[in-house]
Amino acid sequence: MRVVVVGSGIVGIAVAQALASRGDEVVVLEKEDRLAQHQTGRNSGVIHSGLYYPPGSAKARMSAAGSRSMVAYAQDRGIPVAICGKLVVGVDESELPALRMLEARAAANGVPARVVGIDEAREIEPAVGGVAALHVTSTGSVDYVGVCEAMAEDVRAAGGEVRFSEEFVAARQRPAGVEVLTSRDRITADALVTCAGLHSDRVATACGITPEARIVPFRGEYYELVPELEHMVRGLIYPVPDPRFPFLGVHLTRMINGGVHAGPNAVLAFAREGYTWRDINGKDLVQSFAWPGLWRLGARNLAPGAMEVARSLSRRLFARSLSRLVPGIGAKDLVPAPAGVRAQALRRDGSMVDDFLLQSAPRQVHVLNAPSPAATCALEIARSVVQELDAATA
Ligand SMILES: Cc1cc2nc3c(=O)[nH]c(=O)nc-3n(C[C@H](O)[C@H](O)[C@H](O)COP(=O)(O)OP(=O)(O)OC[C@H]3O[C@@H](n4cnc5c(N)ncnc54)[C@H](O)[C@@H]3O)c2cc1C
Repeated sequence: MRVVVVGSGIVGIAVAQALASRGDEVVVLEKEDRLAQHQTGRNSGVIHSGLYYPPGSAKARMSAAGSRSMVAYAQDRGIPVAICGKLVVGVDESELPALRMLEARAAANGVPARVVGIDEAREIEPAVGGVAALHVTSTGSVDYVGVCEAMAEDVRAAGGEVRFSEEFVAARQRPAGVEVLTSRDRITADALVTCAGLHSDRVATACGITPEARIVPFRGEYYELVPELEHMVRGLIYPVPDPRFPFLGVHLTRMINGGVHAGPNAVLAFAREGYTWRDINGKDLVQSFAWPGLWRLGARNLAPGAMEVARSLSRRLFARSLSRLVPGIGAKDLVPAPAGVRAQALRRDGSMVDDFLLQSAPRQVHVLNAPSPAATCALEIARSVVQELDAATA
């Protein structure tokens, strides 16, 4: 079967690899000149263990399996990967019930985790503050861009193509297949899979699908710790998440290729690929503000939203959030690092689509929502896309 895959982020390239490895003829279309230029190449590099997600959700199921399959793939291909474990830090007594709830959820999801007192927490991370922590042993760190490069090699080795600087424009159903129009070509294929991240709703619409949710971009800004303070973080140090948000809160991450990242926060981006406040795209901005879901979300989250903006504008406030986890980190210890933008699928009523979301049509599968931990789960998402595609082409 000849399949066109749109997007060479980790989801698209994992789907392409899964199809190519079973003998399908694959053409990947990527509008950028390299792999993984958006969410995948700008994330925290964490292999999540599946701690936070509702039991039975695709995220919970796929993180458990995905954290194992991602580690196995990286080890097999010689890509840097480490299982360093993580601490979720309860900064005061008021956060202990939430830590206990996370511990129970971890147990329900089969994730090895237990609440430890502050002395035991400091044996793991000597610089950590707070009163207690949830220690999760199976969380890790990997080079996701390295993973994408290895998967692209697999695709090429199986006879597939990865075409850069070639944008998907539209697709039309034809009696014998799907006709795909790109910025440079017209391709006749048996099937189409789209994994377009920040543009997933638009790309699906260009295939005749009406997505129930729209993508609204939320930027996550990062700093790096100055080298003299890197010793203060051995692995991964997270706050107790705010249950009203899908984001995990600013955390400290020892990156697999060196350095300690601090972040990301979450502010509305003024462009789908808006990596700074100065990046403004009129079409993106109008579409975000024309979507009733954004206003409803904003009205429900005025105070935390304002806090995120304040933290974005003030390095001192950013450092204050981090110093709750690791006392002693100040604004002078933070150096700006490249930001990422999350593709957040938002329904008309203002609710966020939490779980992974696929939508099928005859000969087509569209990945409409693949937020964190989709990098961790990429091999599992790819498996389920291939199953959906088989059903859509049967
Ligand atoms: C700040 C941040 C931190 C995160 N941290 C983690 C983490 O630590 N661990 C984790 O598991 N997950 C994390 N995530 C989530 C994870 O990075 C994403 O879920 C994952 O990368 C999504 O992959 P994707 O392939 O769907 O999207 P992307 O990586 O965004 O790829 C989509 C691709 O489609 C291409 N494309 C779009 N439109 C077109 C078109 N018309 N034609 C051709 N190509 C097109 C884009 O150029 C892009 O290359 C984080 C995300 C962010 C933003």
